Amino acid sequence: MTHEAVHDVIIIGSGPAGLTAALYTARANLRPLVFEGLQPGGQLTITTEVENFPGFPDGIMGPDMMELFRKQAARFGAELRPAAIVRADLSQRPFVLEDDARNGHRARTVIIATGASAKYLGLESEQRLMGHGVSACATCDGFFYRGKDIVVVGGGDTALEEAVYLTRFAAKVSIVHRRDALRGSKIMQDKAAANPKIAFVWNSVIEEILGDKEHGVHAVRLKDTVTGATRDFPCQGVFIAIGHQPNTALFAGQLDMNAVGYLITEGKSTRTNIPGVFACGDAQDPYYRQAISAAGSGCMAAIDAERFLEANE
Ligand code: NDP
Repeated sequence: MTHEAVHDVIIIGSGPAGLTAALYTARANLRPLVFEGLQPGGQLTITTEVENFPGFPDGIMGPDMMELFRKQAARFGAELRPAAIVRADLSQRPFVLEDDARNGHRARTVIIATGASAKYLGLESEQRLMGHGVSACATCDGFFYRGKDIVVVGGGDTALEEAVYLTRFAAKVSIVHRRDALRGSKIMQDKAAANPKIAFVWNSVIEEILGDKEHGVHAVRLKDTVTGATRDFPCQGVFIAIGHQPNTALFAGQLDMNAVGYLITEGKSTRTNIPGVFACGDAQDPYYRQAISAAGSGCMAAIDAERFLEANE
């Protein structure tokens, strides 16, 4: 493994948290190196319109917003690398990170902004039919379902938002939820309820997605969570929108995390249990999970890293 010179700051991840940390550390003259990861720009690159980020009164498409974040960080000298970090040794400083081309990188501080990824139901048929009638991204795949009947799984804001978006294309969207009450916000619930193309299927879980790669999906087998009865529910598309998993497996055994993998930070800071390693964005936030809160915590991580470097020169 070859090593470059020791960097002051390496940032892992390029969503709102990572790129805000990049902007701030670049402006502090720390020449941050950013590993963009498997999904450069993060989750906002697979969303549609972002209406709740202050400063964009008319809304902005997620991918366009992330391009602006990127440009702003690059303008002040952040170096953006289209690679993912696959291994981290945080046992001593400088920390050693290895990317997916087996290059080694050393850093005095590391800012973790690896975000979270969509969760799946865990069914064999879900995996087999992914891209053949099953999707986790309405923006990416909605277009292919013009005039079709679609099922969206989940009861949170993501499911409601995806369902509303999919009504642009679909004949009908059925939201399948395992309980009889939604978790999503009141405003999104009202928006979905008011949409004549959206119907709710309560107390139901998907046992199997029926179809094959050649012809796509033709139904889902639903199980009633109250009565236990099963039935086949016709549809040609299934969108999974059941929440997210933090991308922190890389740090297991080194950094403190909660039972489901969110990194634990100290008090109001972005400090992890290892001095010099900071965490921001969805990787450490099971609660707010918004672009604006991720960006805010990216700023905090940058300032924490800067002060750490000042104190440990
Ligand atoms: P949530 O965790 O809020 O919701 C996940 C939903 O999926 C829940 O209804 C849950 O059911 C259901 N679920 C979880 N696992 C399974 C499973 N195995 N089988 C069936 N159903 C399952 O995740 P979201 O991604 O919806 O939202 C995350 C955060 O992002 C929230 O804070 C949300 O407000 C925010 N957000 C905001 C948006 C906006 O402001 N426009 C848009 C999208 C997200 P149960 O309710 O029974 O637990």
